[in-house]
Amino acid sequence: MVIEYIGAIIRSEVANRKERLYESQNRGVYMFRIDNDYVIDATIAGGPARYINHSCAPNCMTEVVSVEKENKIIISSCRRIQRGEELSYDYKFDLEDDQHKIPCHCGAFNCRKWMN
Ligand SMILES: [Zn+2]
Repeated sequence: MVIEYIGAIIRSEVANRKERLYESQNRGVYMFRIDNDYVIDATIAGGPARYINHSCAPNCMTEVVSVEKENKIIISSCRRIQRGEELSYDYKFDLEDDQHKIPCHCGAFNCRKWMN
């Protein structure tokens, strides 16, 4: 285990509203989808895990674990990580149509060119 992705657990509908609010305030939005119904919002009350970038060849993986009936996102290494190496995981965004594609600049040999 490397770090827990902490923040406020909110329902998807609330997350959609908050995302629009944060964007209207020009805030960086930091959210992690737990499942279809819930999202962790780390925008206001998050930890350093929210700054971990996406990579198509990541050195970490994420998993949802249930601790005393509460879901938590745990970021774990999936291979040996060198000192000073940037941490990354695969954001696994849902696929979007051409107009909503986010380009990927991770630089991995197997980069998929798009994050969604
Ligand atoms: Zn990439």
